[in-house]
This record gives sequence, C-alpha cells and structure tokens, in this order.
Amino acid sequence: MNLSDHSLRRKDSIIASTTELGMKMTAHHVWQLSNRFPANLFNVYLVEDVLIDAATRWDASSLLKQLANIPLSQVALTHCHPDHQGAVKQICATRDIPLACPEADIASMEGRTPMLPRTAAIKIMQLGFAGPAYSVQRSLHDGDEIAGFRVIHTPGHTPGHVMYFRESDRVAIVGDVLRNNHPITGKIGLYEPPAVFTLDREENRRSIRKLAQLRPALVCFGHGPVLYDMEQLDRFVARLPS
Ligand SMILES: [Zn+2]
Repeated sequence: MNLSDHSLRRKDSIIASTTELGMKMTAHHVWQLSNRFPANLFNVYLVEDVLIDAATRWDASSLLKQLANIPLSQVALTHCHPDHQGAVKQICATRDIPLACPEADIASMEGRTPMLPRTAAIKIMQLGFAGPAYSVQRSLHDGDEIAGFRVIHTPGHTPGHVMYFRESDRVAIVGDVLRNNHPITGKIGLYEPPAVFTLDREENRRSIRKLAQLRPALVCFGHGPVLYDMEQLDRFVARLPS
C-alpha cells in the first residue's frame, strides 16, 4: 500500500485498498503491483487482465507470485528498456500469454537491434536489470485499444514509447514520458527521464505536453507514486524548455 492517507482523503472517488497479495487499486480496474523497497522504484500495473510493463529480471518471481490465481491475457509494454521488459519472458512463458510491444521498440525487444539510446548507461542498465529477448505477438500502434485504454504514441524516451489513456475517468499510465521521483535521490516530484536513457529529449518534451493536453485526472508512472495533483503537472509543463 503506497497511497498516502493524505492522497486518499483528497481523492475519495478513487478507491484504494490492499489485496491479500499486496497489490493496491489506484483506479477502477487498475492495480499497482507491490515492488521491493524502495516503493515505486519500478512500477507494474494490472489493468483488468493485462499487465502493463514487467520491471526487471529480478522482479519475475515476485510478480508471478502476486499474479498467481489472477487471470492474465497479455503483457503490454510502454517501451523496451531493461527496467520495463526484465520479467517479460518469465511471465509470458510461465503464464503462456502473448507480449504486446510498441512497433518501433519490437526489434530491440526481440534482440535484433540494441536498446536505444546506445549509451553506456543503457548498456550498464542492461547488464544489471534486463531480461532475455522475447518475441512479440502484437504490435502496438497509436489509437489501438487495450483493456479500455487507448494506446497513444509518445516517442522520445525510446522511438516506440507509448502511454495508455482511459477517457472514461481520464487515467493515464505513462511509462517513462515523465517520472514522479528523482532518479538518484528518490525524492518525490516530477522530473523528465534522465538524458542518458532518453533518445530524443525534445521529442519526449512534446510527448509530455501531449500528456498534459489530455487533461488526465490521475497519472501512473513507470517510476514514482501516482499523481493526483494536476496543477503540479501544469506547472511542470509550463517550466519545460520550449
Ligand atoms: Zn524506466
């Protein structure tokens, strides 16, 4: 359970409860799986029966344990980076479910091209966290629908990066377009993804603006806690370099 009492009081229309498995509900049919200390380090969400992202290879057994007895139809990635694709192979193979991946990230997910950007930081991260290459069964495109969420292409961090947006209650699951903790100190707050892990910062800023223009009510990040304060997002976007 990592929603603060404060945020629960502020957003009482959103039910937060802890299951016996340690997952918590962040919005209707959206569950955040619990991860190892520190909280919100590598976030994984369950949307109906779809797993969004798969943390690192070290998280596979914990994720599988939390997902035991829970129906799963597929894993869908926001992008192909070591801290999002790490447990893909173990989860998909163990549960016998397909993998959906944004089209422009498929080659790196399948190990045919390197993960981007081709920086030393990504290579080190791969050594530490990445899971094996795995074949993609579904190619994701802008406008596709997954479990009631629309796929929105938000390139920049990687070429294929997507976020997932549900119009009915304006929930956004945004991967690494933006993060809600500092990558080194862990201090909670909005930050752009680190430059060393981002292919095109300018393009990613356009994707951040695309997120803000959707007027989300709640934002779920790849890193950091859920954000309910949309004025904070607007202030952040207003300060972004143009
Ligand atoms: Zn990440």
